[in-house]
Amino acid sequence: MILYNPDCDLKFSEYGVEIPIVDDRALKVFEALKKDDPSLQYFPLEKIPAITKEDLLLAHDADFVNRLFGSYAELEREILTCYELVDEDGHYHRYNPKKAKKDFTRAFDVVLKQVGMTYACAGEALKSGFSYFLGGGMHHAMSFGGRGFCLVNDIVITLRKLQQENRIQTAWVIDVDAHKGDGTAEITKKDKSIVTLSLHMKEGWPLDSGSVRDPWFIPCNVDVGIDIGEEGDYLSKLKEALNELDTHYPKADLAIVVDGADPFEADELESTEKLKLTKEQLLERDKIIFEFLKTRNIPQAYVMAGGYGTRAWEIYTQFLKFVR
Ligand SMILES: [Zn+2]
Repeated sequence: MILYNPDCDLKFSEYGVEIPIVDDRALKVFEALKKDDPSLQYFPLEKIPAITKEDLLLAHDADFVNRLFGSYAELEREILTCYELVDEDGHYHRYNPKKAKKDFTRAFDVVLKQVGMTYACAGEALKSGFSYFLGGGMHHAMSFGGRGFCLVNDIVITLRKLQQENRIQTAWVIDVDAHKGDGTAEITKKDKSIVTLSLHMKEGWPLDSGSVRDPWFIPCNVDVGIDIGEEGDYLSKLKEALNELDTHYPKADLAIVVDGADPFEADELESTEKLKLTKEQLLERDKIIFEFLKTRNIPQAYVMAGGYGTRAWEIYTQFLKFVR
């Protein structure tokens, strides 16, 4: 099942946020798939599961969650930090509140809808074996705050909510976004029931890396860094990493695949330049993961994560056409 609703897309310009890359990839993927299958429908807004403060507490510290649900100034500060809208001197950067048509309360509501969609997507995968949400994948959000354009961690919230409801016990997170899934690693570092795999650029994240003791450096269970020029080894390293999951960790009741398209050589975000996979390599990547999970009868739920610029939609579309 493909889950999509345009009201779950965060349209930055509506909030006065001036991030130059136009993000219409999810809609483009949906439209391309609908050409082949006219019966494809938007996921009904009223069916998106409501995500509560208690749900966020499954993955995040009470201080942070209280600020998100606190005064407008507190919420605004969290969002400005997460989306990197204030520079070192405290001035607005890429942010012009005068141009905002909506306030950040609405942006937070859209983020919560995204979490609800990731949760619905996982529930659908548990029923049918495969499901893809055209959104989500906020893997940089840490227990104590949002970062790297990820306000809350929809992946961990979803898994822990399903565990709380006794629908799953164990889970794998297979993260193939160009950037390391550092938030997911940090939140689950002491949680043996959620096993994390991240295959990412060896250098380049975190952008302002300081001490290796920073939470951004907390390892995943299986951590594979791809160095500049190592693209030719990417697929074999992926297979090795998946085998490591299979050999050393308990079988998962559910896998969430953080399916970033930003390792694509045509990606337009500067910080993804250190990993340049071809369109063919990315299709092969997605097929390898799909078949790996399918042959083991592990339900698979996908989220989009990163993927920037005019061609990102092609990567998601080619895989979803293969699956259908
Ligand atoms: Zn990314």
